[in-house]
Order: sequence, then structure tokens, then C-alpha cells
Amino acid sequence: MSGYRGRFAPSPTGPLHAGSLLAALASWAAARAAGGRWLLRIEDLDPPREQPGATSAILGLLDAIGLAPDEPVWVQSTRSESYEAALAGLRESGLAFECRCSRGDLAASGGIHRGACVASDPTRAPAIRLRVPEIEIGFDDRIQGRYAQALAASVGDFVLKRADGLYAYQLAVVVDDAAQGISDVVRGSDLLDSTPRQIFLQRCLGLPTPRYAHLPVLLDADGQKLSKQNLAPAVAAADVAARLPRIAAWLGQPALEPAPLATMLRQFARQWDIARVPRRMGIAM
Ligand code: GLU
Repeated sequence: MSGYRGRFAPSPTGPLHAGSLLAALASWAAARAAGGRWLLRIEDLDPPREQPGATSAILGLLDAIGLAPDEPVWVQSTRSESYEAALAGLRESGLAFECRCSRGDLAASGGIHRGACVASDPTRAPAIRLRVPEIEIGFDDRIQGRYAQALAASVGDFVLKRADGLYAYQLAVVVDDAAQGISDVVRGSDLLDSTPRQIFLQRCLGLPTPRYAHLPVLLDADGQKLSKQNLAPAVAAADVAARLPRIAAWLGQPALEPAPLATMLRQFARQWDIARVPRRMGIAM
């Protein structure tokens, strides 16, 4: 067993569509090809955006097509204590702070918080932000190549916990990738520009940085990323066998011979080569 630990981390804002199926399959094949483990984590930290039944629809589809996680599924809504512990540590060391600035207060600086608070209403419920110095964070993405961001100018002091009490994705993903011992993150290119924030947060928390690989995302006829917001259709388990050869082709992988799904999946994983994935942010369907 290698030390490779990958994961798929969908948000239950709707059932899987072709784009999220691609991310699930690629992260799974990469883990299998490396002789590693593949974990599943439900990122349900934003109840207003959740769709009832989406978690069971996602788990049901993955199960029906034979993508079985190697360990019990993690659910972020049960992980608040770990997020609070991370926040407490950051606040004790002065790296995170309470902030009462509203969106309107930050409009003049393009929504970016840098340094001092400019809150107009001191009685507002506070968010918690991470203090971001003038620092450039870069990394070598296994698909997209070198990517670097001047963190203060691009994102500023970013939110870890919102004023309404919800934990930010950036905090939860970093805490959980480390807690699950993830060595390799394979996910959509829409999260490439979140990665420098995540790496900086890992350093603040004393956590290791996994390797990252950002896949091209699928684009619809208008050039938009397929998403639940633009009502990308749900994938049915019965269609996955027909879709897999196209997904393999989009990802630059060797052609799959027509066969039952389980056979094609084995071939897809056996042949998986991340070096063949096109270095592109998006692919038109
Ligand atoms: N939950 C995020 C999403 O569905 C993905 C998080 C990640 O892979 O880091 O877009």
C-alpha cells in the first residue's frame, strides 16, 4: 500500500452532473493507479445552498457505479469542534481576528480586507478573518504547472468563519485534508485560485501541504462551467458506462474498449497517467 491518499469532496448542493462525475472519476483513478486510498467527504457547511436529498443522491450514484471509498465517509457538518480548535489556535497566536466590516464597508477596496478594519457598525456580529501579510504563495500544480498569487493583493485577510456562524470552505477543507491525511488533491480548476489561500492557512496551522492537481472543468455550450447553479443535468448511473469513454478522452487518457462499466473502470485506472491530462482550465463538452 503506497502512502497516496486522495479524496473526492462534493458539496451537496445537488446531484452529480457530468463535471463533478469527471472529478470523482479522475480522483478515484489517480488513487487506484498509485496503489493508494480514495476517500469521500461531504462538504455540507452551507445549509442555505444545500439541496435536500443531494447527499444520498451523490452517495447512491457513486455506490451504484462501483466507486467505493476505502474508509468511512466524512461529513463536515459533524466536524465543528475541529474547526473551532483550529480557529482558537489561530486567534491565540494572533493570526486570526474578529472583524465587523460589512460588504459595504469594504466596497471601496474592491471587497478586499487589508490590515485595519473599517467597520461602520461596531455592534455587528463579527466574522473571523486570517491576517494575510505581503507574501507570494506559489506551488507546482501537477496539471496546470506553476501557479502563484500575491495573497494580500488578490484576496486580502480572508474569512475563516462568517458573521452568520458558518465555517468558510477554506478553513474546513484545510483542516479536513490534514485530518484525513490527504497526500494528493485532484479537483476542478475552479479551485486553482483557492489553493494559495489553503497553502498559506496550512502553514499558519503547522499542517503539511498535499500535492495538487487541478483538472480542466467541463464547459457548456455558452462556455460556462457546468454547475448546479446553471442547472447541469444530473448523471444517471445507467449512463456512466456510455459517458466514461468520452471522459477518458477529455482527460487525454488512452481509449477505452467498449465493455461493461466495471471492466472499463479497471482499465481507466490501470492506464491512468496524470501527465496526459490537458493543461487547460476548461474543456468544451
Ligand atoms: N466541495 C467543493 C465543491 O464541491 C470541492 C472542494 C475540494 O475539492 O477542495 O466544489
